[in-house]
Amino acid sequence: MPRKKKTQPADPPDALDEAAAPKPKRKRQSRYAPKPILAPICPYCGIDSVLDDGTMVYGHTNFGNVWICRNHPGCSARVGCHRGGTGTRPLGTMANEVTRKARTRAHAAFDPLWKRKVEKHGVEKYRARGAGYRWLAEQMGIEFEACHISQFDYDQCMLVIKICTPPYGRKTPVEPSPESEPTTSEEGTEEHGRDHPADQHAA
Ligand SMILES: [Zn+2]
Repeated sequence: MPRKKKTQPADPPDALDEAAAPKPKRKRQSRYAPKPILAPICPYCGIDSVLDDGTMVYGHTNFGNVWICRNHPGCSARVGCHRGGTGTRPLGTMANEVTRKARTRAHAAFDPLWKRKVEKHGVEKYRARGAGYRWLAEQMGIEFEACHISQFDYDQCMLVIKICTPPYGRKTPVEPSPESEPTTSEEGTEEHGRDHPADQHAA
């Protein structure tokens, strides 16, 4: 038995035109398209850096690309790169050996605070870390956007270590001048020292 063809109701002309029209081409480049990376400037020498595949500083390429101060090996400043994209986007700011070690110590002090939130409370990693950095920025008295250990100098790293050591919270600034000895450090310590910082601030 032959099937009776269903007659489709006619689309309104406007809708038909719209459906038939070719999809507009993307005018803008994807925001994920790699942008050209400028060589970072060494903060100690004031000159730009050169890109190395890792062999100059590590002797192998396992860790990816590295921006190295042109004064290498006279200057130890360098910064590793993100793996994605062109592999040349710096992970942070260039730092000499002393500062790099300080950053490692700062991470060792700070990371367990937000990681505990992930492991014990099932908070998503990015949320826990974001909340941790938000808390840290507050304690350091800096903007959240500027709060990245990968961009901190030596003194800031020392401050991170103090803040992230019990009792948690705001501490006397690093190397205060003798004239401006702060007197409010205890207040901050009490306010933020009662509980684990990540417990208070992670959503
Ligand atoms: Zn340098």
